[in-house]
Order: sequence, then C-alpha cells, then structure tokens
Amino acid sequence: MHIFKTKSAVHGFSENAHSAGKTVGFVATMGALHEGHLTLVRYALMQNDIVIVSIFVNPTQFGHDEDYSQYPRTLEEDCVLLEELGVHGVFAPTAGEMYDSTIEQMNANDGGLTRTQINPGELAILWEGELRPAHFAGVCLVVGKLLNIVRPNRAYFGEKDYQQLAIVRQLAADLDLFVEVIGVSIERADDGLARSSRNRYLNAEQRKGACSLYESIVLAQSLCAKGEVMCAEIVRDVTNYLTLRCDGMLSIGYVAIVDPMTLKPLESVIDEGRLLISVQLDGIHLIDNALICA
Ligand code: AMP
Repeated sequence: MHIFKTKSAVHGFSENAHSAGKTVGFVATMGALHEGHLTLVRYALMQNDIVIVSIFVNPTQFGHDEDYSQYPRTLEEDCVLLEELGVHGVFAPTAGEMYDSTIEQMNANDGGLTRTQINPGELAILWEGELRPAHFAGVCLVVGKLLNIVRPNRAYFGEKDYQQLAIVRQLAADLDLFVEVIGVSIERADDGLARSSRNRYLNAEQRKGACSLYESIVLAQSLCAKGEVMCAEIVRDVTNYLTLRCDGMLSIGYVAIVDPMTLKPLESVIDEGRLLISVQLDGIHLIDNALICA
C-alpha cells in the first residue's frame, strides 16, 4: 500500500490507474478509523480496481470553538487497518500541503480563508449548517479539492452524515465533477450507537446516554409503524424521550423529520421522511438519522 503525502503523487498514481484502464474508488476520511469507515472502504474495494483513502483532519470545516486540535489522530493504526483490507493508496497530507502553509492553524470561523470558497447554498443553511455556520462550506472546499486531486470514478460517503451526503451529491453535480457519489448506510455498534470517531471521547455513562439517540429513532419508527404520521407529534415524543433519558447530560441541537431530498421539514410522513437528530452530550457533538416510513 502506498502512502502519499503530496497532491501530485496521489494524483499521478490515480492518473496511471486510469491510463491502464482501471477504475478508481475513493473514500474521504478524517482518520481514527472504525467499522463505519471500513464499510465504505469495503464497498469501494468491491466496485473498483484501485481504492484510495484520504486521511485528513480538515481545519476549514471546524469552528473555532470545536475540537480540531483534540480530534483523534491515529495515522499508523489507520494504515494498518487499510492495508489489511487491501487498499492501494492512502493520501495523508498536512494542512499546509492541502491549502497553504499560512492557514495551517486556521479554521472556518476565524475567517481565515481569503481565497476560493464554495457556497453550498440553501442545503447548507439548514440543521447542522445552522449550528455550525461555516461547516459545510469547509466540507465542500476540501471534498471538491480531494475529488479534483484524486479524480475517482466513484466516491463513497456515509449516510451517517446525511446532510453532508446530500451536499456532496449537489457539489458533484453542480461543479460537473464527473464522479459517481455513492451513499452507504449507517454502521452501528451492537448497542445501536452509530459508529463515530468521536465515540472515543465517551466514558461508560456518556455512552449509555449516547445510545438514547438510537433508542429514540426506534421509538419514532415504531410510532410511525403504528400509524402516527404527524411529524410534530413524533418529534415531540423523541425530544421528550431524549430529555428524560439523559437528564442534564444532553442538550438537543435539533430533532426534525425532513424530506429525504430537500431536507426541508415535513408536516406529515406521507410516504417516507428522514429523522435527523443532533445533540451535545456533555459537550460532545453527536448526530444520527434514520429513514421513517409511514
Ligand atoms: P469522517 O472521518 O467522520 O469524516 O467520516 C468519513 C466518512 O465515513 C464520511 O462519509 C462519513 O459519513 C462516513 N462514516 C462515518 N461514520 C460512519 C458510520 N457509522 N456508518 C457509515 N458511514 C460512516
């Protein structure tokens, strides 16, 4: 497995693969890999001749009050896992290589990006975008750059970050990136908790609290299966459940049932909706989501 530190090296590797008539699959990650990431990688390996994984904690998508400097960085362990799976190339640049060394320490909320920015429009103002105003512009910038550097045939993104997936699909279409964006369903631990690099921050008690997100999703799905279609009712019950289960530990960012494509709030679940949940659990940011069917 090759480990590339520069844009030109990984670009050349991918170009060679294309010249040899091979397809290239790509998975973008921030590292601290877990089974969720590895599921994306397995799909990529099944569907492409060559698979490239990026590991880059992207400063431009973190707010100044967020966990950029504390975000777990485990490059050596990550590379062992990827090599075992049969990944062909890892792209692990520094922030200076990706952007410009002067912005190495900067993040989106510092207004540090004085050069090209991408405005993802309406989709990025909603939900997570309201809580983290510059987040999706930072995601679009790095994903746009990565897709241009690697030029994959297919790129894999998790439904775990449901809004991000919708925004990346839009980015690829609007900028004519000629890449097939493939969404992969959420990988959960045995207790139902959606796998996330940030789960490493949770102690035993917090982990129990974090599981209430999935429990509340199951509650919403069962309410809908029993015939409740009014979103306000379901959202109220989910919110009450989370509040009762995590007394004092949890602050809710949003609970919403949205149109799966536009992400606009639904009044009632006619066919299907997407339940989106975002919370801070003792200051740890957790998100989850699920399909809700009438
Ligand atoms: P991250 O390293 O958190 O930026 O995630 C990299 C990619 O892995 C993103 O496309 C995520 O949506 C995806 N991902 C993270 N956790 C999961 C999970 N539990 N199930 C499926 N995909 C995931």
